[in-house]
This record gives sequence, C-alpha cells and structure tokens, in this order.
Amino acid sequence: MKTVYWIQGGGCGGDSMSFLSHNFPDISELFRVLHLELLWHPSFSSYSPGGQDLLLESILQGKKILDILILEGSVICGPSGTGMFDVFKGRPKKDLVQELAQQAQVVIAAGTCASYGGFGADSEVESTGLQFHKSQPGGLLGKDFRAGSGRPVINLAGCPCHHDVMAGALGAVADGTSLDLDEFQRPREWYGTMIHQGCTRNEYHEYRVEESDFGELGCLFFHMGCAGPLVPGPCNKLLWNQQSSKPRAGVPCFGCTDPEFPRNNPFFYTQNIEGIPLSLPKGVNRAHYMVYKSMAAAAAPVRLKKRTAKV
Ligand code: SF4
Repeated sequence: MKTVYWIQGGGCGGDSMSFLSHNFPDISELFRVLHLELLWHPSFSSYSPGGQDLLLESILQGKKILDILILEGSVICGPSGTGMFDVFKGRPKKDLVQELAQQAQVVIAAGTCASYGGFGADSEVESTGLQFHKSQPGGLLGKDFRAGSGRPVINLAGCPCHHDVMAGALGAVADGTSLDLDEFQRPREWYGTMIHQGCTRNEYHEYRVEESDFGELGCLFFHMGCAGPLVPGPCNKLLWNQQSSKPRAGVPCFGCTDPEFPRNNPFFYTQNIEGIPLSLPKGVNRAHYMVYKSMAAAAAPVRLKKRTAKV
C-alpha cells in the first residue's frame, strides 16, 4: 500500500473540490482500489492536531514512508522571501513542503498555482510553483530536483486540475507507470492536445463563424477571448462532471493550464490586429492563417451562418 500526504499552500481549495467530484469511482473507492493510504488531507482527515504532529514528525524523520506528496495551491515566499505569509505552527510552510518533498518518492503539483505560482506569482505574496516560476524552471525545489523515484515534479495544471487527471495520475503512480511529461512537466497523456480538441463548436471555428456576445452558438476564439486553440488540456474530451466544458457551455476557455496563467489581458476579449487574433493557434503561420480563414468564412455552410447547428 502506498502512502499519500496532501498539503495545501496558497490556494482556494478548488483542486480538492474538483477531486471530490470524481464519481467513477468516488475518491474513497479510488484510494481503495489503487491501494493508496491517505495519510493526511487538510479537509478529509480527522487527526487531532497532536496526532498530525506525530505523523508529520515520523515522515520527516524517515520513520513513516511517504510515497506520494501532493501540493495544492502555490508556495508562498513573501514577504521578502521569508515565507512568513503562510506558516504552519510558526514556521514557513514553504520549508515544510521542501522537507516533505525530500522524503517523497513522487511529488505531484495539483493545479496551476502549485505547478507555476498562479495568481500570486506577480504579487507581494511572492508565490511560486514547486519546480517552475510561471514558465521559468526553478520554483521552490529548483530545476534539478528529483523525488526519491528519480522523477521531477508532475504538474497537473489547471484551475482547478481536472478530477479525471488527478485520478489518472494517481493510478499511474500507484502501479508504477512512468508518465511522459512535456516541457512544463505536464503529462502528455492529458496535456498532449489542445483544449480546442473535442469542442462542440469546432465546426463553427473551422468556418470562422464567430461570436461577439454570450449565449450564441458560434466560436468564441475570434472576439470572446477563447484560449482553446492556444493551451493544452483535456477539458473537451474529459468533460467536467461528465457533463460539459466551458466552451461547450458558451464560456471562453481562460487558458488555465498555461504556466503564465492568469494572463495579463481580459478573459472575455480577443486581442487582434485588423480582426485577426494576436495569438494564433500554436505553430500557425500568420499569412497562411489569414488566407485560410477568409476562404473558410466565404465557404461557410448556410446552416452554420444561420447558427442552426447545435453545440
Ligand atoms: S469555442 Fe474555443 S475551444 Fe471551442 S471551437 Fe471555438 S476556439 Fe475552439
């Protein structure tokens, strides 16, 4: 049986909320079938404070084996690098996270804040990620950090991290499967395709049938700020609560799996030059794109122009 210790840093608890919505199976059954023992989670565990202290000490002294450490929320380093904005029993939590990471066989960053610093990365709280600061390698543990198994931190990016991704990553770690990671240490299994892939508005995107307001059926990329073609993630293939995704429901993707999230411009607006989005789908040539999209718009089927194709 492998042990799991879940610790929270600077965050909203959204990754725990997301994980709680995992239904098939629910998380207690998931832990049972994966032979995982949840040593500690700040919301799910019922240890007394004294009991938790003993547990923590035995892990830090190497008496209790720690197989999987999960950090949710960013590592807070402020003010002035001291970490005193986020303390545990008077000591900076960043130091505790660092010590626990040294004991763990596998370290997982749950969500974009834990992976890259997220919302507080440019603020006076000086938050950072476990092994990245935004898109720069480093973070709390440094780019050369390797957990006991020899693996770098596994970044399950997202705001929050998709519950199926968390369950899948735990499954892979539990049975010893090595996850292939991309340049930002996200598993390619779930971050190897763009959010755009699987969106039910794809046909509208293809023919540049675009929307400039909420509640319509067209594509949200050209005016509404949708980052679906710009960032990787599984949201349109692994649906949230097995039901839907932001773009499917008519809300532009915010690009929350990107190391630079949150972006420094409005979520519901596409920056553009002469009507062509400033940020084009990854790897696309601007001149070719302009030609292709104007031809596609001219060729759009009437049923799309009339918005009769359901999404
Ligand atoms: S709404 Fe977003 S994710 Fe959907 S097709 Fe348009 S750009 Fe892609």
